[in-house]
Amino acid sequence: MKRLFITVVLIGALAAAIYYFYQNAKEATAPTEETTTQVIAHRGYWDREGSAQNSLTALKAAQEIGAYGSEFDVQMTADDELIVVHGHGYASIEDVRKVPYADVKAIPLPNGEIVPLLADYLDLGAQNKDVKLILEIKDNLSPERETAMVEKILAMVREKGLEQQVEYIAFSLHVCKELVRLQPGVTVAYLMGDITPTQAKEYGFTGIDYNYGTINEHPEWVKEAHDNGLTVNVWTVNGEQDIRNAIEQGVDFITSDAPELVQQIVAEK
Ligand code: MG
Repeated sequence: MKRLFITVVLIGALAAAIYYFYQNAKEATAPTEETTTQVIAHRGYWDREGSAQNSLTALKAAQEIGAYGSEFDVQMTADDELIVVHGHGYASIEDVRKVPYADVKAIPLPNGEIVPLLADYLDLGAQNKDVKLILEIKDNLSPERETAMVEKILAMVREKGLEQQVEYIAFSLHVCKELVRLQPGVTVAYLMGDITPTQAKEYGFTGIDYNYGTINEHPEWVKEAHDNGLTVNVWTVNGEQDIRNAIEQGVDFITSDAPELVQQIVAEK
């Protein structure tokens, strides 16, 4: 009887030990939750031989290195052409919003290309579905012009069947709000950095895309954004130490002029 009792106790102890060991092992191998930061080439991958900012060549280069996305700037000219070029001024033209496309087209990009039409840019983007098209809508001369721009862009993207591949960003709060109004469920991140992630969520935006300095002033916004289900993108982060810091802060995307450097540092981690 006594022997039976000891046997039962030993078996019980062994079972408990096995259970305890198994639980610990399971915990040790459970995947830890970590964000993988991805890279967006700022104005395409332009910092290469033969490339230029916002050129078709820069988009191709971003596709070649397998960036998450390629960012580009969209303006609307006085004759309602949607074009890909940075800033309101381009070369000797003071304000591309006030002149017809023919005037802009007359001045080639530094690599000899013509300032691309959005339609041509999107067609090239469509050739590689793995690279997102991060379409920045630049502000225009009035809210009415901005609304017209948003309508035209959404229609073009829809017509080309690129709704899943295009993500929008804008400094103009009006543009971001119009995107949400005209296409509920749209992927849109606000650039200006003057509202909290909670406010951005309330407006229906899906992300914040703030200057790196703004995120350093408000590091708590990364968590606040994630708690609200928003993505966090920072721009324009080019230096090695800054890239490492941004990854440490847990941002989802780094927009950079040095996309291959970001990829290398991410791969190391
Ligand atoms: Mg831009």
